[in-house]
Amino acid sequence: MLNVELLDLTDEPISHIARCARVSHRSEGTGPEADAQLVRKLIGWGHLSILEFAHATFLVEGLSRACANQLTRHRLASFVQESQRYVDVGDRELVQPSTVAESEFRDEAAELYDKARSLYRKLVKAGVPKEDARYVLPIGAETQLVMNVNFREARHIIDLRGSRHAQWEIRSLAQQMLAILRKDAPAAFDDLEVSA
Ligand SMILES: Cc1cc2nc3c(=O)[nH]c(=O)nc-3n(C[C@H](O)[C@H](O)[C@H](O)COP(=O)(O)OP(=O)(O)OC[C@H]3O[C@@H](n4cnc5c(N)ncnc54)[C@H](O)[C@@H]3O)c2cc1C
Repeated sequence: MLNVELLDLTDEPISHIARCARVSHRSEGTGPEADAQLVRKLIGWGHLSILEFAHATFLVEGLSRACANQLTRHRLASFVQESQRYVDVGDRELVQPSTVAESEFRDEAAELYDKARSLYRKLVKAGVPKEDARYVLPIGAETQLVMNVNFREARHIIDLRGSRHAQWEIRSLAQQMLAILRKDAPAAFDDLEVSA
């Protein structure tokens, strides 16, 4: 099951962004309230480059390869993804969209994945390199990755991937990212919404 965990975050990110911003903006006031107000103002003005001074690192587990392919298109984030070349992934679960899981083909889909996994294991056991055996696995197979992202890019990803035009799985990922970032850096994220 898709799970997003925060591994690392810039210390006191809102105060850090505000402190950097004050080098160029001689805004009045200091302290958490003034910092949050300044960050909200900058976002309102579209001065988003200042958000690049804060970063978050997430561990994302239980996502499909299909979803990972979508996420890793974001070029300004940094990723490390579980390698199917070096890791034996014969025990990974299948991510099932509800449209498949609730359809009359649910059992057929599960059987197909079991067969693919079993063939993968047989190939590896027979000495076929994991990097080649993986070709029999479907795009719904689970993977995991670490993503490091600055706050500007995090907003961009949440905005694009949290929209109702995005697919359910990456939308759920955007939702979890937003919930974490809103808690730890509300002034930089509480204006964003993710479609249900
Ligand atoms: C609903 C949806 C459907 C999609 N469908 C498809 C599809 O069918 N096929 C497909 O191939 N992709 C598809 N994508 C992926 C999409 O085309 C982008 O590759 C992906 O969303 C990354 O977006 P980005 O380039 O804005 O973001 P990032 O790579 O995260 O970059 C962030 C921003 O930085 C700037 N930037 C980054 N790199 C450059 C650069 N080299 N030059 C100038 N500015 C740059 C841009 O302003 C960019 O918006 C889809 C995405 C969504 C959300």
